[in-house]
Amino acid sequence: MSGVPFPITTTFDPACPNCRNTMQTNVDLAYFAGALPVCKNCGQAFDWVDVFTNLFIEGDVFYQALGPAGAQWTITRFTLRPRENFHLDLAEHGVPADARVLFVNYSPALSGGLFPIEWHGNTPQPQRHGKRILLPIEFGQAPYGPTEVTVLAAWVPSRVEHEPWAEFLRALEAHVAGDYDAAIVPASAAVETAAWRLVHVFVDPYASKKNLKGFESEASFGDLLNVLISAFAAVRGLPIMSDVLRGRVNRLRELRNDIAHRGRPERPISKRESSEVLAAGLLTHRYCDVVAARAADLGGPPTPASDAIA
Ligand SMILES: [Zn+2]
Repeated sequence: MSGVPFPITTTFDPACPNCRNTMQTNVDLAYFAGALPVCKNCGQAFDWVDVFTNLFIEGDVFYQALGPAGAQWTITRFTLRPRENFHLDLAEHGVPADARVLFVNYSPALSGGLFPIEWHGNTPQPQRHGKRILLPIEFGQAPYGPTEVTVLAAWVPSRVEHEPWAEFLRALEAHVAGDYDAAIVPASAAVETAAWRLVHVFVDPYASKKNLKGFESEASFGDLLNVLISAFAAVRGLPIMSDVLRGRVNRLRELRNDIAHRGRPERPISKRESSEVLAAGLLTHRYCDVVAARAADLGGPPTPASDAIA
């Protein structure tokens, strides 16, 4: 990769299920309204549900699966020197200083023989900022000398107001590790948060804070998913989630309840099932985002006088 002008900031897009060409990830309102996207290369229609489910089954989950939720990747390079700690600051490599860093991958060149190890305090914690102190350890063959290290950092902009990231990231990590039970609870929490955010866009102008609080404590995730969101979206002329997507998020909910109430699901979760419910979770999160944005753009039906909201 010599001669490449680092840093590079990019997204990793998934492959077309038919021709395997890379496609731009564009999960938009039209898709949720039922229009299947078409591959620009081979002309075949495809469904994002299948594309994302396959990513979870066989693909690079971390690279492509967070794309539709807004993640970006920066690839850059630095030189690690023997017995010299390196202070990496991703802000100097094009990552916004206030970005939330999801993960970092280091690939040292073989020549030089050094490997960067992240320094940590007494209690190691995942670091979500872009600064790292890296210690050079002698890893390859002597003699040891300056070693080029390529860094791949995944991050989300801080302007992403609501943060399902921590939960989705935990779910993806567990899925990749084959611990499918552990993926369920955080994924369900992330989708539920997105569902509530959407419902609040619909109902907030029409109810008092006190009544909204009561509503929040009474209504379940299932009520939102299976009754309220579809009804509100339909009334406002907005797309309704497909039965496939809703069905899979219901399965995610059931698994979550099994784990929360009994400590484990009724039967072991397979990789396919985990893939289906996580992919549906990510797409539902995306649905809530794009529908909420459109609903806010449209503005609501006339707001009743404030004294009517009691
Ligand atoms: Zn294609």
